[in-house]
Amino acid sequence: MLTVLHTLANVAGLVGKPSTTPTSVPANSNARIQEALSNLSVIRKIILVENLPESQEQIALRHLDQLLDQLSVNALAQLSSSQVQEVASSLIASSSSASSAAELTQILTTVRSYVKTTTTVTTTKTVTKVTQDDDNDSLTGSEGPSSAVTVVDELDQLTLSLRSNLSIGIQNEAEAVQLTSGNLAVEHVAYALSDLVFVYPSTSAHSYLGQSSENWSKAGLSNATGSALAPQVLKMSTRTNAASAVHGAVTSAASKNSSISTLASSAAIVTMVPNLYQIAQANTPVVFHVAAESVDSDLNVLRGDYSDVLVARETGLLYLASNSVQEAYDVSILAHAVASGTRQSVIHILDGVKTSHQVEAIKTVRDQDAAAFIRQEQQKYTLSHDEGSLVSGIEDIFEHAESLLGRRYRAFEYTGPKDAETVVVVFGPAYNVAKDLGDKVGVLNIRLYRPWSFSHFLKAIPTSAKSVVVVEPVSSTSAHGPVFLDVSASFNLWTGAHRPIVVDAKYGLFGHSLTQGWLKALVHQATATAGKLDLAAIVATEEPAQSDVKQAIFWETESSAPVSAHVAKHLQSALGHRIQHSSAVNSYRHQPVIETRLQFSKSNSIVFAESAQADYALVHDLSLLAEFNIVDSLKHGAVLVLNAPWSVEELESKTSAAFRFALGAKQIQVLLIDLIHVAKELGLAGAGKVLLGQVTFFKTFASNLREAAFEQLDRQYETSNIKVLKDLVCTLVERVDKEVIEVPQNPNWLAIELGEADQAALALPKRVSPTIRSSVDAFTSTAVSHATPVPEEGEVALGKTSNWHQAAWQLLFSEAYDTKKQLSDDGHSYLVKITENRRLTPTTYDRNVFHLEFDTTNTGLKYEIGDALGIHGWNDTEEVLDFIKFYGEKPETIVVAPRPVPKNAPEGTLPLYQTNSLFQVLQQTSDLFGRPSKRFYADLIPFAANEAEKERLAFLISAEGAAEFKDRVDETLTHADILREFPSAHPSIPQLIAMIPAIKPRHYSIASSMKAHPNSVHLLIVAVEWTAPSGKARFGQCTRYLTSLGVGDNVTVSIKPSVMTLPPLPHQPVIMAGLGTGMAPFRAFIQERAWQKAQGIEVGPMILYFGSRNRANEYLYGEELEAYHADGLLTHLRLAFSRDQKEKIYIQHKMNEDGALLHKYLLDSSLNGHFYLCGPTWPAGDVKDAIVQSFMDGEDCAAIDANRIVNKLKEEERYVLEVY
Ligand SMILES: Cc1cc2nc3c(=O)[nH]c(=O)nc-3n(C[C@H](O)[C@H](O)[C@H](O)COP(=O)(O)OP(=O)(O)OC[C@H]3O[C@@H](n4cnc5c(N)ncnc54)[C@H](O)[C@@H]3O)c2cc1C
Repeated sequence: MLTVLHTLANVAGLVGKPSTTPTSVPANSNARIQEALSNLSVIRKIILVENLPESQEQIALRHLDQLLDQLSVNALAQLSSSQVQEVASSLIASSSSASSAAELTQILTTVRSYVKTTTTVTTTKTVTKVTQDDDNDSLTGSEGPSSAVTVVDELDQLTLSLRSNLSIGIQNEAEAVQLTSGNLAVEHVAYALSDLVFVYPSTSAHSYLGQSSENWSKAGLSNATGSALAPQVLKMSTRTNAASAVHGAVTSAASKNSSISTLASSAAIVTMVPNLYQIAQANTPVVFHVAAESVDSDLNVLRGDYSDVLVARETGLLYLASNSVQEAYDVSILAHAVASGTRQSVIHILDGVKTSHQVEAIKTVRDQDAAAFIRQEQQKYTLSHDEGSLVSGIEDIFEHAESLLGRRYRAFEYTGPKDAETVVVVFGPAYNVAKDLGDKVGVLNIRLYRPWSFSHFLKAIPTSAKSVVVVEPVSSTSAHGPVFLDVSASFNLWTGAHRPIVVDAKYGLFGHSLTQGWLKALVHQATATAGKLDLAAIVATEEPAQSDVKQAIFWETESSAPVSAHVAKHLQSALGHRIQHSSAVNSYRHQPVIETRLQFSKSNSIVFAESAQADYALVHDLSLLAEFNIVDSLKHGAVLVLNAPWSVEELESKTSAAFRFALGAKQIQVLLIDLIHVAKELGLAGAGKVLLGQVTFFKTFASNLREAAFEQLDRQYETSNIKVLKDLVCTLVERVDKEVIEVPQNPNWLAIELGEADQAALALPKRVSPTIRSSVDAFTSTAVSHATPVPEEGEVALGKTSNWHQAAWQLLFSEAYDTKKQLSDDGHSYLVKITENRRLTPTTYDRNVFHLEFDTTNTGLKYEIGDALGIHGWNDTEEVLDFIKFYGEKPETIVVAPRPVPKNAPEGTLPLYQTNSLFQVLQQTSDLFGRPSKRFYADLIPFAANEAEKERLAFLISAEGAAEFKDRVDETLTHADILREFPSAHPSIPQLIAMIPAIKPRHYSIASSMKAHPNSVHLLIVAVEWTAPSGKARFGQCTRYLTSLGVGDNVTVSIKPSVMTLPPLPHQPVIMAGLGTGMAPFRAFIQERAWQKAQGIEVGPMILYFGSRNRANEYLYGEELEAYHADGLLTHLRLAFSRDQKEKIYIQHKMNEDGALLHKYLLDSSLNGHFYLCGPTWPAGDVKDAIVQSFMDGEDCAAIDANRIVNKLKEEERYVLEVY
């Protein structure tokens, strides 16, 4: 037994930990959850390999679940390997009796006692903090809100962050209502019911079906198939015959009794067709869950286009479709049951654009119950001889599933009057809008598309039908779609009196979107014209509102706080509403735009329909008013909240006539609030801004939600100081009340006469059309980038019965759903957030030297003393837009360009291609405002259409033009300048991009020690600006970018190791000479030594020679330096302010004064000091002279010998220069 335990512990990575002492808690919350999961996985495995009788095993596992209800992630994470084994053994022992509450309590007490021993340090810290807080503000005692300032000051200390319970996922509970997305619902079922899962990721979507299961498998989460091991999840690439591996698994003996799932994109299915024929013939139950999406030639995503998945419709596989998150969950279970019950492989299609990412509260069942149902259907298997009996068999399975799922599905589902004259046939998402289409209109939804049973189809059509309208997405007008062909063929067998006409109603053409209003107008036209459709002429009718359902639209950009997701979660969990939340993201804009629609209802029976009309909209970014027809989506009398620093008068003067006319026509209630100003005044960032947005929503939404909403709002946030947080909510409620400006209805708006120019404003897009490279998901990018503080014992219990699910989703929250941005280099870059950007020199002073701090929490960024940080700077937005305009292009033009092949890539590596908007490429990648080489001039020559320009370009790069070329370099002309100067030379965009080199990262010495600042990195930077000989102001590319950034902005960075390392031994003397920003690495040195000293390590002397122009303006970090000097850490602080006195004093002068000291520290072999110079190049010679002089004096030697000693020190890396 011991061997087994040891092996298991080894597998889980527990060996190597002390076997009895509890492990230290990993600081990072993800690491902690990972550790907890790993321990949990080992406990489960130990129980499973014990080979207990099944009932006893169930009890042990149930006890484990109960135990986890009472334990925090923290506690579980800290168990040592022997403690893990003890817990497992106790649980095994407890399984011999079902009612062993006392034993369980005993196990719990034991585990807590393990944990207590280790948490002392953390707890003491917390207690101290609370005591201090108590002293200041009697946090637990006093009533009544503190002043706003106090609240915010304290909040800063609280590291307010969003609670990880915002994550979505399904717990394994009976009859639960849970918030989840379509993808997660499907993955959960596939993972729970399979032993082997193949994942074929979508190449276009930012998160794909199957992404989470990879992580669950890595974390060792077991499933409900009864296997002792976690399912195996294999990530595959999509290429020709992609499903060979699946076919191999189907036919291999090893996986004969395994249940197999495939999670794929529709693009993957296209490549699998040859294999699918083989798989179909193998008569083996494989389930393919497919997230369907299609992309048009402009890379826009097409809604509900299943044409890619349908290419496999003749392979012999069964096809099932689901149209909502609830259905995706149910049909996933049905797909597995049908596969097992018929011994056939099944394709389950869900809408990969909408349902995949939509978040909804759904009813779920226990995984074990689903698994038992599938086993039961497998046992009932009888061979079907024809399609009709196969479909009847499948319908029987649907019927049996009703008691499990609570819903009844059929092959063809008809809803509507029995005497309908028109029947609309839909397959896929059209079903969601096919509601209330008129009297005598019914809807037939195709649930089981293959095998197509003529008899079942015709039986579902009322005999009264005169016309059957097939609504199907197509990309061209010329051909009929596959569903239309199946439907038409079926009517050849019609036996009724009057055979209905079959109408082919294609959608996806003429720019129409699939709305209820459009479908209603289509049906109306089809009946009025006896099926002769003129699709181009259909004008969508006004949509009927769904009673009991409220809809709010959030117009956000990538930089907005993710308010809608938090509002949704709060409505669902705290206020008991049913919700549906979906976002469309368009990233072909310099700031990706996100339109989020949130529908909610108190009614339990409501089925959300897609509806264009909202009761409320909150516009976070005013620039969107000029790009979208925002009023169009609002109901008459709806509320529109604008995050604007405007008065009522400014609204009149700053918005378009068309906008105001629309407000008047719909009698929209406009509210103004300057959220940016409020956040700034209260010092709110990150989660604080989200909270402000939530309060604004609940305050301004016209309903009786308000008061109830504020109760418990704080529950979404993680803090140890709940009272302060509650006070903050009160403050925000009061503040929002005070700040909101109600704009009175202006009767003049209706009298506005719209001119031709206003027509363009009315024709603005009404909705955001999603792009495949969407980089933001409003629900899931829920600001987890904020540090999650270590939860204290009991603060975050692992959750309900199936805690491993809960924990897994908590773990995955940031990984699976966090915005995945492709950083700009080959994988060594990090995205970090600015937490401080502070000017150190007075604003009246002509030089801007500033201090930057970045938060590195959870980024994986690590640095050593002396490393430099590479900053991947962007070009200036205005300049880029100006240039694009000059060049006659549009910012959103799509550019597909090769990425540079990494230097260390094997020979022959082909470049990866990336798709971006032109704006993104010119802002982020191309060095458009950098210095053009002669090569660039030469490359332009063939493009110059004008002969004079051609000749001039040739002259400038010739020997005769050398002097003029030099003047141009002095003028610091840029690529953009040259293109403007020679307008007839107009390479195409791809050619231009190939001609201009990429922006190079700039490096900055890191001015902090990671020991002192484990979660941040600091820089000291001087803004580079100069005036060209022509008088034009010029700016350094990277420093201009950095000065424009504020707190909260993200920056891509990388690490460059350097020679500026501290001496190997802490007692070796350190001599530092720095000019201006050359001070940066020395600040890091000093912090590192201060940290060493604080640990009780004896540290050697440190001399700092710091030089700058004058003390008043450029004594960088003066106060810190004085403090270190007073403390004795900085043994010598030598300042040289060159302009503070008549004669110039530089650092070399100060060094000359210390000749004997330098000689001793550097050449005394018992000391072995190191010397460093950092900053601009120019003092390097004088500084070296000072050292040489000190050696000549100290050694009594000639200059040549002293120079030799310096060279030797250089070789030994004890004389180090970093000059730039
Ligand atoms: C290891 C290392 C550490 C460093 N540490 C620091 C530090 O701690 N703090 C700090 O402030 N800096 C530091 N630097 C310098 C920093 O990397 C940058 O060089 C500096 O900030 C300027 O970058 P920029 O993009 O703003 O200017 P750039 O755009 O690169 O311009 C810099 C100079 O290039 C020339 N130039 C620019 N455009 C043109 C043109 N079109 N034609 C001709 N000439 C042109 C100009 O002379 C200009 O002054 C360090 C450098 C290195 C190598």
